[in-house]
Amino acid sequence: MTLTVTVLGSSGTFAHAGNACSGYLVRTAETTVWVDAGPGTLGALQEHVALTDLDALVLSHEHPDHWLEVPVLRNGLKYVLHHQGLRVLGTASTRAIAEQLVGSELAPELLWEVVADGSEAQVGDLHVRFSATDHPVETLAMRITGEGRVLGYTADTGVGWSLAELDPDGRGFDLALCEATLDPSEEDEVQHLSGRQAGAMARAAGVRRLVVTHLMAGTAQRRAAEAGAPDAFAGPVEVAEPGRTFEV
Ligand SMILES: [Zn+2]
Ligand SMILES: [Zn+2]
Repeated sequence: MTLTVTVLGSSGTFAHAGNACSGYLVRTAETTVWVDAGPGTLGALQEHVALTDLDALVLSHEHPDHWLEVPVLRNGLKYVLHHQGLRVLGTASTRAIAEQLVGSELAPELLWEVVADGSEAQVGDLHVRFSATDHPVETLAMRITGEGRVLGYTADTGVGWSLAELDPDGRGFDLALCEATLDPSEEDEVQHLSGRQAGAMARAAGVRRLVVTHLMAGTAQRRAAEAGAPDAFAGPVEVAEPGRTFEV
């Protein structure tokens, strides 16, 4: 069996026609993890897996495009599916906002485990390591390993952080999902990456297969080309198209 990642949505900042905000389904034969729950991903997820078959939900940060399906997920688990005990790994501030939004405890449907920079977690046969990125709020990138393969996910970040921080042993990444939000003219204005910056970071961090994500409408092919340029990744770059499954 293999480690796979299925794109539920890859729109940056807000959902676009036909593409939800950030969300991914990471699976091995025995483990199913939902990574980021941006608006639109709850429905997309159920094209692939039942909510009751999830082993955990892992959230990168509190910005609404990465987690706002959580209160609606809880609706389903609490009032319809009557399913308790889903593990949620996320930051303390995301939990606080979620509790405020639902107006009560998230348990027993959602069992929140606070994670932070340097945290590690085991979910079934997947291991997750977190690293705080360069972003205006506490944001956690992830290195997910399973079936002998290594997946990287930058979450949202500026150039003040690198995937290399999740790879202290220099093993690199078989596949990495890197955000490529910005037009080249916007580089360094906000804590996000342009395609070129994403490509350069991925190359320096030993990424073997680069997939750009967190994209503005209509920019996917351009960002992939910019990321793959000779002064960046210097190789083919793929796009996190919604519905597509990658073998890591
Ligand atoms: Zn975002
Ligand atoms: Zn963000």
